[in-house]
Amino acid sequence: MNQLSRSDLARFPKADLHLHLEGAILPGDLRMLYPRGRRPPLPRSTWPALYRFNGFRGFLRAFAAACQLLQEPADFGRLIPRLVSRLARQGVRRAEVFVSLPVHLRRGLRGESILEAILEKRSAARRKGVDLGFILDGVRQWGAEALEPCVELARRYREQGVLGIGLGGDESSRRPDEFAPLFRRARRFDLHTVMHVGEIGSPEAIERDLRALEPQRLGHALRAAEDPVLLDHLASKCLPVEVAITGNWRMGLLRRPADHPLPRFLEHGVPVVLATDDPAFFRTTLLGEYAQAQRLFGLSPTRMRALARQSLRSSFAP
Ligand SMILES: [Zn+2]
Repeated sequence: MNQLSRSDLARFPKADLHLHLEGAILPGDLRMLYPRGRRPPLPRSTWPALYRFNGFRGFLRAFAAACQLLQEPADFGRLIPRLVSRLARQGVRRAEVFVSLPVHLRRGLRGESILEAILEKRSAARRKGVDLGFILDGVRQWGAEALEPCVELARRYREQGVLGIGLGGDESSRRPDEFAPLFRRARRFDLHTVMHVGEIGSPEAIERDLRALEPQRLGHALRAAEDPVLLDHLASKCLPVEVAITGNWRMGLLRRPADHPLPRFLEHGVPVVLATDDPAFFRTTLLGEYAQAQRLFGLSPTRMRALARQSLRSSFAP
């Protein structure tokens, strides 16, 4: 079948809606953060090992180490211009970036200072053609208490580019009901809500999470593919699913990338948004994800264009 080249794919305006700031730190970013004379909290010799993790646990350790290397709020801001340049080259016009704020609050950093450091980079990003928003991502196993300050901070910085809250972490750890009052409060403040589901959780767990929290977009929802009724439900509700093929594979959730159920999502009419998740750790780019989806599943140029359009349509851009 006729396939589009990477430069064709780069020309489509698109959005990355599932991208973790801490998971997008490349080795070059670390060298930028720690020029000669600034002492890193982890020795430079250990950095390459961060990108060679094994499985889910290994990934969590690597992610935690990357967080540690963000020592002060300004470090978060310093990452943004380089990230934006990379996105702009791929035709990304809109990025909704997760920040794992509870992790940094627990490390003793001030949430306001982190948000101000990243939000002030938005106007420069816009000049490069990339519209940036941020989602404050909770850690499920830490419970509702750890997410609560995020709702308050998101409300305070809503006008400046914080879009809302998310829920990530260990899906099997806490029942969704615990977070329901916070999600309701977020909606009352006109904040957006998203969550990671079905990476490991069963279709029943996905349904339970949806009922309790009513998120506006789902991260992964991989196992929804096991249940055609659930897929039809996602389609009828127009609930976008953020699909990160390389990430799911590198986490050991798929034997090979071609095992991703993307075609099943599309057959059922689920709005699919291709995404990178943690591009530095998964060694991928959004363009790479588009090229891979096209190649693995033989998607037509019309379908590829529709996926790019779907990503923009599923964004929280006004
Ligand atoms: Zn994620």
